[in-house]
Amino acid sequence: MTQWVYSFGAGHNEGRADMRNLLGGKGANLAEMSAIGLPVPPGFTITTEVCTSYYDNNRTYPDALAAQTRAALARIEQSVGLTFGNAEKPLLVSVRSGARVSMPGMMDTVLNLGLNDTTVQGLTNAAGDARFAWDSYRRFIQMYGAVVLDVDHHRFEEIIEQIKLETGEVEDTALTADDWMRVVDAYKDMIAQETGKPFPQDPEEQLWGAIGAVFGSWMNPRAITYRRLHDIPATWGTAVNVQAMVFGNMGTDCATGVCFTRDPSTGENMFYGEYLVNAQGEDVVAGIRTPQPLANLRAKPDEQPMETVMPKAYAELMAVRAKLEAHYQDMQDIEFTVQRGTLYMLQTRNGKRTAAASLRIAVEMANEGLIDRKEAVKRVNPSSLDQLLHPTLDPKAPRTLLAKGLPASPGAACGIVVFSADEAEARAGKGEAVILVRIETSPEDIHGMHAARGILTTRGGMTSHAAVVARGMGRPCVAGAGGIAVDYNAQTLRAGNVEIQAGQTITIDGASGEVFVGSVAMIEPAMSGDFGTLMGWADECRRLGVRANAETPLDAETARKFGAEGIGLCRTEHMFFDPERIGAVRQMIMASDERGRRTALEKLLPFQRDDFTALFRIMAGLPVTIRLLDPPLHEFLPHEEDDLIAVASALGTDVEAMRRRAAELAEANPMLGHRGCRLGVTFPEIYEMQARAIFEGALEVAKTGQAPHPEIMIPLVGTRKELDITRAQIEKVAEEVFKEAGRRIEYSVGTMIELPRAALTADSIAGAADFFSFGTNDLTQTVFGLSRDDAGKFLPAYVDQGILPKDPFVSIDVEGVGEMVRIATNKGRAAKPKLKLGICGEHGGDPASIAFCEQVGLDYVSCSPYRVPVARLAAAQAALGAGGDRTA
Ligand code: ADP
Ligand code: MG
Ligand code: MG
Repeated sequence: MTQWVYSFGAGHNEGRADMRNLLGGKGANLAEMSAIGLPVPPGFTITTEVCTSYYDNNRTYPDALAAQTRAALARIEQSVGLTFGNAEKPLLVSVRSGARVSMPGMMDTVLNLGLNDTTVQGLTNAAGDARFAWDSYRRFIQMYGAVVLDVDHHRFEEIIEQIKLETGEVEDTALTADDWMRVVDAYKDMIAQETGKPFPQDPEEQLWGAIGAVFGSWMNPRAITYRRLHDIPATWGTAVNVQAMVFGNMGTDCATGVCFTRDPSTGENMFYGEYLVNAQGEDVVAGIRTPQPLANLRAKPDEQPMETVMPKAYAELMAVRAKLEAHYQDMQDIEFTVQRGTLYMLQTRNGKRTAAASLRIAVEMANEGLIDRKEAVKRVNPSSLDQLLHPTLDPKAPRTLLAKGLPASPGAACGIVVFSADEAEARAGKGEAVILVRIETSPEDIHGMHAARGILTTRGGMTSHAAVVARGMGRPCVAGAGGIAVDYNAQTLRAGNVEIQAGQTITIDGASGEVFVGSVAMIEPAMSGDFGTLMGWADECRRLGVRANAETPLDAETARKFGAEGIGLCRTEHMFFDPERIGAVRQMIMASDERGRRTALEKLLPFQRDDFTALFRIMAGLPVTIRLLDPPLHEFLPHEEDDLIAVASALGTDVEAMRRRAAELAEANPMLGHRGCRLGVTFPEIYEMQARAIFEGALEVAKTGQAPHPEIMIPLVGTRKELDITRAQIEKVAEEVFKEAGRRIEYSVGTMIELPRAALTADSIAGAADFFSFGTNDLTQTVFGLSRDDAGKFLPAYVDQGILPKDPFVSIDVEGVGEMVRIATNKGRAAKPKLKLGICGEHGGDPASIAFCEQVGLDYVSCSPYRVPVARLAAAQAALGAGGDRTA
C-alpha cells in the first residue's frame, strides 16, 4: 500500500533531507533536523503525491489517507501526552504547506488548530494563563477564517480595532483575557454571518479543512504566478505538515524568531536574525511589532538582543547554528520558538541570499574547508551574477537625501515612483524604469516587484516580505523607511516637508538603505574580490570557450573586462547605420550599376577599416568573428514618405526614383528574403569591400601589436555553392591586399548555420568552411517556421498552455533546434574533424542552453558582453555536470 503519510520527531523519523520531492522541503528538513538530534516538535508530513492525486482525481483524497493520518496523529498524541480534541489536555497542531522548493509567502499556515470553546478551557488550565489561551484561540479563528473559510482579513482587524477603541488600548499586548474572549465571540458571529455556517468546533473537521486549504492553495493565483516566474512545474505539488504546537506567546520567557546562519545580504560569516519576546508564528515578519536582534554585536543601544535577554536559549541556538551548517554545508535560514526557556526548531532550509552573499559564502566556505572549490562553483546561480553586475552609486556624485531605511537588497536603482504593482508592471512594459513604493508588500505584489527596477517600503524589517522577495529576485530594495509617509489616495510620498508625486524620479541604494530625490550618477561594478576568485575557479573547471557578441569598441572593452576570449559575432550592418555613413550606404543602394555601387562602397571602406582596426586592437591576439552584411537592403532606406523626400534631396536623387527603388526592394517576408549570402552572391562588391576593410584593418594592427585572427563569417548559407562563391571572393581580396602590403596574416572563413538545409548538408558545407557558428536566433525561426517579430501574438499563450516549455528564443529548444545543431555538429565534424564550432545566438548567454552546448561538444559560446561572466560560470557548471540546488 502506498505510504501517504511520514512521521517525524520524538525519535521516529521516516523522512530525510533528500526526500524533498516527496515530502516537500519543509517536511524533509524537519525529519532531518530531528534525526540529527535537534529539538523538533513531533508531527507528520502528508506527501506531495497526495496533492497530485488530489488534483488528478477531481479534488478527492486517496482512500488510505484518513487512516494513515489518524495513526500519525495518535503517535503525536502519545509522544507529547496530549489528545486532539480533549477537553482537559488538548493537543494543538499547526498545519503548514511545504513544496519541493520554498515558495515564500505563497502558502498559508494555520496555527493552534484544535482549539474550540471547550479545549480553550483546557489550554487555559494547562498553561495557567487565560489571556494566552484566548489570544491563541482568536489567532486560530482568524487564520482559519482567512485561509480556510476565505473571510477577508479586514473583517478581523475591524473587530480588534473596535475592542481597542472601547478599551482605549493601542497595543495588542495590552488586551486582557476578557478582551480576547469578546474578540472571539465577535469573530464567531462575524464568521457565521459571512459564511452562513457556525465556526467549526470539531477538531477533525478543522484539520481536514486546513489540509484541504493547503492543497487548494497550490492552485491559487499567487502560487501560480510565483511558479511561472520561477519555472516551477504545477505537477510538483505541495506537501502538508501537521505538527504539535509549541508556544512562543506563553509569557516573557517565550519568544519566536527567524535567522540566517550567515548574513544573507553580504554573506558575512555572522549569525543574523530577529526575534520577538512573547510572540507567535509570523509576528516577527508581519511588521506589527519591531523585531529585536539576536546578537549583542548587532544591537543598537535601545534594543534588547536575545543574547542578553535569553542567554540559555541563545546559547542553544548558537549550537544549533554550528550543527546545521556543518551538516548541510550551506547557509541555513531557520525558524525557531522558545517556549518557557526551551528552544524548538520549526524549520530549516538553504537560505535565500543576494548574489554577493552567494559568492562570498561559496568562496569562504571553500576557504574554510567546508566544501571544495568545484562545489563552490556549483553553488552560485549564474543568472544571479546579473545582480553583481548592477551599477552602484558613484560616491562622488551629488545627491539629495530624502530618507533612510534598511539596506534590504543591494544595488542601486533609479526610476519613477509608482504606488501599485499593476502600474509598475504596466509602465515597465512600456520601457519605463520604475521604483515600486509600498507601505509593505505582499504576495499579490510580486508581478510589480518583478517589473520594477527597485522596491521601497516604509514598514517591515530585513526579513519582511519585500526584503526576502527582492533579494531572491535580485532587485535593489530599501525596506522599512519609517521616515517616509505614503499616501496611496493622493499618490504621493512625503519625507519631512519634501513631497514626491507618482511619476517623479527617485534613486534608492539597496546597499546603504538610502533614498534620494531625483537621479544619482552610478558606476559600473568591480570584477575583483570574491567575484574574481570564483570566476577564476570557474575558468579552471570549464571546457567551453566564452566569447562576446560585440561591434563597438565600448562593447568590446566591456567584453574583455568581463573575461571574453574573443568576439564570436560582430554584426557589420550596425556599422552602416551611423549618420556619417548611411548616406553612402543609400547611394550604393540607389546606384543603377556595379560601377555606381563601387563608387559608394569606396566611401564606406575607410569607415569599416577603422571599425575593425579598433576592434582588433582591443581584442589583441584573440579571435574576432566578423559577419559580412546580413539584412536585406530595404532596411537601410527610409520608410516614411517624409523621410524619403528628405533623403532623396540630400542624395540629390529623384524622389520618384527613390520611391521606385524602395518599392522594388520591399519584401513580404524579409526574414526569408534577399539577405545574407544572397546579397554577397548578387552584389559581390559589397562583401569584397567588407573583406578588404577587414584585411587592411588586421594588417594595420599586426604592424604594431599582436596580429589578430579574423574569422570571416558568411550568413544565411543554405548550400555549399553559396559558400564556395563567397569564399572565393574573400580569398581573391585577401591575396590582393596581402600583395599590396607585402605581408600576410592568418585568417579563416566560415559560415553561420541558421537554415535547416545548412544543418542537414553540413558535411558538404564543412568542406568549404573553417568554422561553423550556430546562429540560433534565425535557426529557431527557420526550424519552427515562425517569425520572431510576429510571435508575440501567440508565443506567450504557447508557453502558458505548456505547448512549449519555455520561450525558444530565450532557452534553446533542445528537442528540435537542438537536434539540428547536433546533426550539423556530427556531420560537420565527420567531414572535417578540426572544424571549429560555436554558437552566437542569444542562447549563448542562457545557462540551460550553455549546458546543451557543452553536451553536444561545441568549442565556444558567444553572448552579449554583460552576460560573459554568466556564461563563464554556466560553462563551468555544465562541465561539472551541475544541476541542482542553488539558493541565490
Ligand atoms: P512559511 O512557509 O510561510 O514560513 P510556516 O509553515 O513555516 O510558514 O509557518 C509560519 C510560522 O508559524 C512560522 O513562523 C513558524 O515558525 C510558525 N509555526 C509553524 N508551526 C508551528 C508549531 N508547530 N509551533 C509553533 N509555531 C509554529
Ligand atoms: Mg507564510
Ligand atoms: Mg516558515
